[in-house]
Amino acid sequence: SIPLGYFGGIGAASRHGILVKGGNFLDILADVDHIVMDKTGTMTEGVFQVQELNLIDQPAIPELMDYVNLIESKSSHPVATAIHEYVGELKENLNLSDVEEIAGHGLKGKVNGKDLLVGNFKLLDKFQVTYPINPQDIVYTTIAIAYDGQYQGYLTIADKIKATAAETIRRLHQLKVKVTMLSGDKSSVVKEVAKTLGIDQAFGDLLPEDKVNQVKQIKTQDKFVGFVGDGVNDAPVVALSDVGIAMGGLGSDATIETADVVIQDDNPLKIPMAIQIGKKTKTIVW
Ligand code: ADP
Ligand code: MG
Repeated sequence: SIPLGYFGGIGAASRHGILVKGGNFLDILADVDHIVMDKTGTMTEGVFQVQELNLIDQPAIPELMDYVNLIESKSSHPVATAIHEYVGELKENLNLSDVEEIAGHGLKGKVNGKDLLVGNFKLLDKFQVTYPINPQDIVYTTIAIAYDGQYQGYLTIADKIKATAAETIRRLHQLKVKVTMLSGDKSSVVKEVAKTLGIDQAFGDLLPEDKVNQVKQIKTQDKFVGFVGDGVNDAPVVALSDVGIAMGGLGSDATIETADVVIQDDNPLKIPMAIQIGKKTKTIVW
């Protein structure tokens, strides 16, 4: 039988908009000593805005940004939303085919019969497209564009840190929980956000499989690891952690289903709150 205290704990969590999918997860939350989180949508709003467009002097076609907008219409990544907001309405007269979303890189497809790449500079490297700049010189998140095998320029995008993010990290530290940030976004941006928030360690430029390896590494050092993410391709790390926590508002259906705990309003303060409810429940149950 399930001890009554668990019902109390699950109920208390639910009144705060924290959905806990079983009493065992309250026990694990009580003992969590390391929280691994992604950046976008967890510590930041997950809503990017285009800051600057830097195209080469003579782009291959004048409608290049319409092409970019069109290929992004096939993606649900926050980057796609930012580009759509920036460029505006989709043009009807373009022919798009062979679109592929390449995890941790961006998009590849054909517009009007020629290859279009829109993603980070790693994507351009992958398809042997060269460029006359050093991406490391740009401090912002960059989205590079190539058409017909030729570099066309880049956009910079930025996201805002959530108002409660710094307080979240302070409370986690008070609870003796270490915090690691893992992200597919540019390392310099990830490290800057982590520094601002007082996060213990941070790694950027990670592919989904790199995130898995990082979590495996952390699990060799700490007893109970919680992972917090908003979704797009986080399912493997959620499955690996002792307790997987999803941001419910922005999260993909797949992540919300795999997650053990769902934070319905996306407020990161609910992470330390869930741990506290876990600890409280444990003192009642045991
Ligand atoms: P994370 O969720 O940690 O930010 P992702 O794997 O979702 O990491 O994305 C990593 C990087 O891949 C993004 O920062 C971006 O540079 C690039 N990328 C992903 N999806 C797109 C897209 N639809 N358009 C352009 N670039 C993208
Ligand atoms: Mg993602």
